[in-house]
Amino acid sequence: MLVNSIQSFSPPRRILMGPGPSDVHPRVLAAMARPTVGHLDPSFVAMMDELKALLQYAFQTANPLTLPVSGPGSAGMETCFANLVEPGDKVVVCVNGVFGGRMKENVERCGGIAIVVEDAWGTPVDTAKVAAALAANPGVKAVAFVHAETSTGVESDAAALCALAREHGAYSIVDVVTSLGGVPVRVDAWGADAVYGGSQKCLSCTPGLAPVTFSPRAAAAVAARKTKVQSWFLDLNLVMGYWGGAAKRAYHHTAPINALYALHESLLMLREEGLEAAWERHARHHRALVAGLEAMGLGMLVAPAHRLPQLNAVRVPDGVDEAAVRNRLLERYGIELGAGLGALAGKVWRIGLMGQSCSATNLTLCLSALETVLAEMTAPIREGAALPAAAAELYGR
Ligand SMILES: *Cc1c(COP(=O)(O)O)cnc(C)c1O
Repeated sequence: MLVNSIQSFSPPRRILMGPGPSDVHPRVLAAMARPTVGHLDPSFVAMMDELKALLQYAFQTANPLTLPVSGPGSAGMETCFANLVEPGDKVVVCVNGVFGGRMKENVERCGGIAIVVEDAWGTPVDTAKVAAALAANPGVKAVAFVHAETSTGVESDAAALCALAREHGAYSIVDVVTSLGGVPVRVDAWGADAVYGGSQKCLSCTPGLAPVTFSPRAAAAVAARKTKVQSWFLDLNLVMGYWGGAAKRAYHHTAPINALYALHESLLMLREEGLEAAWERHARHHRALVAGLEAMGLGMLVAPAHRLPQLNAVRVPDGVDEAAVRNRLLERYGIELGAGLGALAGKVWRIGLMGQSCSATNLTLCLSALETVLAEMTAPIREGAALPAAAAELYGR
């Protein structure tokens, strides 16, 4: 690489309809370009308080311990496990896709004992199996599960799983990375204990921040640990010296100042739209997308009752090269779709309708581009039916 030939990087314009990141609104990009101030500047500290209030709104919680971790969704995951799980703790981990598998890794790396409850990819977590695992293993410290499994497009029953954990005296650790802002997430109503999200999915902010919230009893457990949190950076007992509500804030690490401006703006946009309105928008566009895909003759992976509106796993017709379709969509139309992961590789496309990406314009373009490309590849689809079906769902007849 000859460094003298390198110029400024100009990314192509894309329409992001995969599993995240999603399209970022110009308001959010503009917020990010504002002047950098110090991480202890009084103006910045005031913005941090607003950010916390906006996050409490997004999570539907009054938890004082609510903040954005400086790192991607995976750092939010590590924060929950590293702070709550001590060596020797037993944790029931629900695995029905990629991200449940990562939770098991986290438990084990914290020195905990993972009791895995597995369900088939494409199906939700079976609460009866979790109840059986809790009954068979007295003294479980926590139950961990993914609310919205991005690898399959399945929603699990978070309220029931959190309630089950409480009944057995266990904490709940909940991944809402893909659900936050897209479907109802009600941390206080669920009685959830340690919950983490991500900035780049339905919040439509730039990647790299992980909102987390801890219930008062989970926060007390972190403060009363017998052993130090093994990660210095993610130890909430130390992070709170900077993010805690007290007037005096101390340096812990340099916050990603401009990225936090962006999160503030994206959460403000969510509050302006209203959470309920955002959930409804995701549901409505999902119905239109499915109507269009089914009119074309394509099938969905997940049963209707468990489908996530923001992540749609679509079966690839027999004989179609799924990667060739995605490549043509990207090269010609600038549309990015997600591929299948693990056992679903080559078998599904993952179409994201997350945050700003969830619009009538995007889904209309996506359906028409997909139809064109599949027809060129002589896939067995019905032509001309998808857009009218989607429009009927969106606008009525
Ligand atoms: C994307 C995602 C993550 C990880 O987030 P990163 O920002 O990529 O680290 C975790 N859990 C779920 C369910 C996700 O969809």
